[in-house]
Amino acid sequence: MTDQHEPGTYYWAADTDHCPHKPIPERGADAWDQWMCNHQPYDDGILCLSAPVGSACLACSAEEGDMVPWEACRVREHARPKRGIVPGIDTAHEPVTVLVGTFECLDRECDEYFDDDGREDPGIERCSHIREEQVCSCQRQDNGEYSSEPCRAAAAV
Ligand SMILES: [Zn+2]
Ligand SMILES: [Zn+2]
Ligand SMILES: [Zn+2]
Ligand SMILES: [Zn+2]
Repeated sequence: MTDQHEPGTYYWAADTDHCPHKPIPERGADAWDQWMCNHQPYDDGILCLSAPVGSACLACSAEEGDMVPWEACRVREHARPKRGIVPGIDTAHEPVTVLVGTFECLDRECDEYFDDDGREDPGIERCSHIREEQVCSCQRQDNGEYSSEPCRAAAAV
């Protein structure tokens, strides 16, 4: 178990159809040790290392008891476009202004949005944890956020 928020591969449990290593041998049988080379024990059972689900935040997943995709990690910073309309990913490399912060801050849930009585303060447009950055339109990901990968055009020079 880890409390570092970092991406890691999440695997299907060995007792699902995703594990191709069937049948599961008896625990302690000769075949068991060999079978375990492709598997890894975890809290609730055994994971199949041949059946990756995808990239998950291991710390969030451990807390939720279920896979939390890396994109949805609540601690990492997310880059969302400042304005709703952004250049398409296939257009020329255009600068896009993004707001970078955690979900808590971007979703107006951190302390700074609330006054001392716990009421939301509509006068606060944006908390101080959020910063503006310029990214390139090509860094857009499927979920509408922007990655920290370098611009493809800059990388090609
Ligand atoms: Zn397996
Ligand atoms: Zn996380
Ligand atoms: Zn904040
Ligand atoms: Zn670019």
